[in-house]
Amino acid sequence: MKRLEKIYEGKSKNIHTTEDPDLLIQYFKDDASAFNGIKKGEIVDKGIVNNHVSAAIFKFLEGKGIKTHMVKELNDREMLVKKLDIILVEVVLRNVVAGSLAKRMGRPEGETLKNPILEFYYKNDDLGDPMINEYHIREFGLATDDEIEMLCEKGLKINQLLWDYFKERKIRLVDFKLEFGRHKGEILLGDEISPDGCRLWHWDTNEKMDKDRFRFDLGQVKEKYEEVYHMICG
Ligand code: UDP
Repeated sequence: MKRLEKIYEGKSKNIHTTEDPDLLIQYFKDDASAFNGIKKGEIVDKGIVNNHVSAAIFKFLEGKGIKTHMVKELNDREMLVKKLDIILVEVVLRNVVAGSLAKRMGRPEGETLKNPILEFYYKNDDLGDPMINEYHIREFGLATDDEIEMLCEKGLKINQLLWDYFKERKIRLVDFKLEFGRHKGEILLGDEISPDGCRLWHWDTNEKMDKDRFRFDLGQVKEKYEEVYHMICG
């Protein structure tokens, strides 16, 4: 399957059509951005890491009964995926206090949560992805009641599965973001699951191995992404 027309240029991925109208190709770039696009840069080979890590995680989740948009990895930077009608709600799951939660609640980063927290954000770059709740989603028609229920159910289930998956690989899954889309009457997990959209800390040392290294100029960005790759993909 070859990539044809580029129909979307994202911050870290481009989306291309294929000969099959039902299938698209996600092309993973090395471009990095943070703080709603204000900070920009490049992490060499990040696209390769994110493609392989996402594919490994999608495969694991499929094996546990979570349907995803992935059809297969085509090569180092390309993933063949089912075309989705993306739900404009980002689902964030948290197990440990960090990032915007630390700020919002005035809590120290690193505090383990007794129960996971699920949050919704409106997927809208112009507005900076503001936090929303079920009432906003319903009122502004972003998703139906059934879909909201499904986002919660799937989000929490995925969190449970991935917490154990990462723990087995010596990684603490602090928080992460999921996107879902509609496809032939089903809700599929879309986008990617990679160090770009997850906070991943080394289980023993709590060393950050994710995009926070880029966000806050912590150094060794490429090295830590590659460490995650090896811890996940061997
Ligand atoms: N996240 C993401 N895309 C976004 C916003 C958040 O992938 O547009 C991820 C982020 O990498 C982190 C989690 O979601 O793993 C929670 O992010 P948070 O709300 O703490 O915001 P941030 O501190 O990243 O601004």
